Amino acid sequence: MSELALFGGPKTITRDIPHHNPIGPEEAAAAAKVIESGVLSQYLGEYGDDFYGGPQVQAFEAAWKDYFDTKYAVSVNSCTSGLMAAVGALGIEPGDEVIVSPWTMTASATAILVWNAIPVFADIERDSYNLDPSSIEKNITPLTRAIMVTDIFGYGAKLEEIMDLARRYNLKVIEDCAQAPGAIYKGRFTGTWGDIGVFSLNYHKHIHTGEGGVCVTNNDRLARRLQLIRNHAETVVEGMQEENLTNMIGYNFRMTEIEAAIGREQIKKLDSLLKERILLAEELSEGLSGLKGLKIPLVEPRCSHVYYAYPMGYDAEVVGVNRDRVLEALRAEGVAASGGYRNLYFLPIYQKKIAHGSRGFPWNAANYKGNVSYQEGICPVAEDLTKQSFLAVGMSVYHYSKADIDRIIEAFNKVWNHLDELQEQ
Ligand SMILES: *Cc1c(COP(=O)(O)O)cnc(C)c1O
Repeated sequence: MSELALFGGPKTITRDIPHHNPIGPEEAAAAAKVIESGVLSQYLGEYGDDFYGGPQVQAFEAAWKDYFDTKYAVSVNSCTSGLMAAVGALGIEPGDEVIVSPWTMTASATAILVWNAIPVFADIERDSYNLDPSSIEKNITPLTRAIMVTDIFGYGAKLEEIMDLARRYNLKVIEDCAQAPGAIYKGRFTGTWGDIGVFSLNYHKHIHTGEGGVCVTNNDRLARRLQLIRNHAETVVEGMQEENLTNMIGYNFRMTEIEAAIGREQIKKLDSLLKERILLAEELSEGLSGLKGLKIPLVEPRCSHVYYAYPMGYDAEVVGVNRDRVLEALRAEGVAASGGYRNLYFLPIYQKKIAHGSRGFPWNAANYKGNVSYQEGICPVAEDLTKQSFLAVGMSVYHYSKADIDRIIEAFNKVWNHLDELQEQ
């Protein structure tokens, strides 16, 4: 076998992998039609027919709730906005604690902070990289009001157990399903387990509208509150005879008619896009499953993984080489390999507890009675995975062919055949 690319040998993957692009002539035609109509958005920030947006927005929401079989879909201009609307809609108060994973996109946690509530980071599982129910339970205090669950990398968290915990402790559940649209957990779509599920339609996701997001819920009250926060709640509450003013500061989280028209075409393509992605990932699993010290992604019975990324456990002791060195070697071969998430609580905003203003708000506010810690060591599994026990192959932004997947497998095998050369002297 040839020399490692890291040491000057030939690179295994030489082709530039094209960017994942789910947009085709259908989306172009749908967008053009809206532009020709001149009605690029039909929202009005007051109570009346146009409070719910124009025909494209409403048709898109109908298609989304049909697909996911939920009572409501509330479109927004990003998943970040949707997460913010969800925390607000649930009536989370300043000083309440919300449990969240440190292994997620930053907005899962900041959506809590913007309402002056306190993110509390619980640890994750070694096999799914999602929140560990036992760590959630350990982090519940009298101040805990909700759990923000991310279905990371396209695979469901332990949703049955988490919903059970939520019932026992009377907590609300938001699902950040940005990476897992169409994934199944124990026979049911991820994103539809909690009180509110939130999806992303940004450029990097399975399907997209440029920017965009959708909240789903089966609860009438929550749907209405999401719609209010999306569209200038404070000016609409009177017209809608909404008496509960909790968190009724509204934003402009509205999706345009163009994005909604594109979204209507995108949701039709979700199934076939996922099918293609899953087939490629399964081939990868077959090709990598024999390599020592590498753990292919967990997929339990009655569950599906939609592989926003292809996550793997890495056992440095078994492999005999530290993870970062192997990453270097894989990258040199042309594999889009990366380490895990950086734990969110190491960001300066948490380390310095400076969010709103400069004086420690909301952590030092009188209405926060707790004492959350963001110190190193609070989530030992997540920290270990970040440091040395995890690696991923990028999927979301790439359009791989079957031949590309074969090359990736070849690159892994090549690196594993040269492990002795990667060991530190
Ligand atoms: C992409 C992503 C978001 C944010 O989505 P936007 O639509 O870009 O706001 C939130 N959470 C997770 C887990 C994500 O992957």
